[in-house]
Amino acid sequence: MGRNIDNKCKQCRRLGEKLFLKGERCYGPNCAMVKRNYAPGIHGPKKKKRLSDYGLQLAEKQKAKKLYGLKEKQFRLTFVKASKKPGDSGHNFFRALEMRMDNVIYRLGLGSSRAQARQLVNHAHFTLNGKKASIASMVVKEGDEIKVKPKSQKSPYFRNNIAEKLKKNDLPSWLSFNEKELSAKVLHEPKESELPQDINAQVIIEYYSK
Ligand code: SF4
Repeated sequence: MGRNIDNKCKQCRRLGEKLFLKGERCYGPNCAMVKRNYAPGIHGPKKKKRLSDYGLQLAEKQKAKKLYGLKEKQFRLTFVKASKKPGDSGHNFFRALEMRMDNVIYRLGLGSSRAQARQLVNHAHFTLNGKKASIASMVVKEGDEIKVKPKSQKSPYFRNNIAEKLKKNDLPSWLSFNEKELSAKVLHEPKESELPQDINAQVIIEYYSK
């Protein structure tokens, strides 16, 4: 997957929303959305753009895409696959995004941002049901077990920082985590109430239905 090299804080400022792309910094006073909560550029502080319906749909889609750190092709493909499944397309779509391996590692608190979680997965620090899991787009299912590889458990990253990180993390109710063994279990698929509530799935469906 190609890397998004656009300035992360500017992406937040352009969309007017915190996307939590920079890990720890996003939670502190140095977050650019705390210091300069307006669009970047010379006219940023003065202008508040009024968006058309299409503009609103596009902005909501961009927000979700950047939040999960996906490229357009992959994001759209996830949507197309999810919309073919029975049930609510919006919920299926966000369920598919939530159950990606990189997102699960982020939700477990093992990476401070989705980008860092993706890097940890790509560097093969985890196993899924005892087998190597180094593809960020892998989708986990109910009952799956994710574990930090024994060799990686000895690395300074997992040895020194992880307890602090886990303390700060809000573990979703569809996952469980064993701190001693550095292993996690997918208890069930995220229910509607466990999916992100701050993104309007309906607007994204409208965008892609055009
Ligand atoms: Fe966005 Fe703030 Fe994080 Fe920068 S620090 S990526 S503005 S949430």
